Amino acid sequence: MKKIKFQNSDEEISVGKIVCVGRNYAEHAKELGNEVPEFPIIFLKPASVLEYSDGAINHPEYSSDMHHEVELVLLIGKEIKNADDAEAEETISGYAVGLDMTLRDIQNELKKNGHPWTLAKVFDGAAVVSEFKHKNDYKFSGNEKISLKVNDQLKQNSDLSKMIFSAVEIVKYISNKMTLEKGDLIFTGTPSGVGKVIRGDKISAEIENIGKLKIEIK
Ligand code: MG
Repeated sequence: MKKIKFQNSDEEISVGKIVCVGRNYAEHAKELGNEVPEFPIIFLKPASVLEYSDGAINHPEYSSDMHHEVELVLLIGKEIKNADDAEAEETISGYAVGLDMTLRDIQNELKKNGHPWTLAKVFDGAAVVSEFKHKNDYKFSGNEKISLKVNDQLKQNSDLSKMIFSAVEIVKYISNKMTLEKGDLIFTGTPSGVGKVIRGDKISAEIENIGKLKIEIK
């Protein structure tokens, strides 16, 4: 069972499902040649792929184009279905910085054939999270800076106000389609600047006031 940890507490929470949003920043949709979506694009990762800061990801041998995607991650604190704005806001119990690692060559092949993205998005280490900032410890503004470096070179640099769908809108939307439960994580999409990493690369990522992570590709 994968668990998440908080920055200022010994509490650990078992991770349920990981729900990810695609194309949530206009500049990123553009860089991959995609339309800006009318509704959030949703896909899932199993909790078993979760990796933590200071760990490593084994680069799958069947891909030669693994990409980094830095994202705000939301922790769901209680079961919710068909949330309204207030309920969506209340059910978010923590925030972290995360990586939605993606096998872009595999994804392009799947997209071309109209197949699900699963094998491009699901492999061990495909979701990375920092420790979580509990919402009681921080007033989330939605304007925090988000950035990612590979080997100390800045690759992604934006802020959360550029998200097309806000954290609350995303929780509302997903909870209208499926029940969200305590311990579920939501990856909220990546800004532009995604790119390839290779074995030996060291990724570091940060969301202002929320958290930092680092990970190595092996
Ligand atoms: Mg993503």
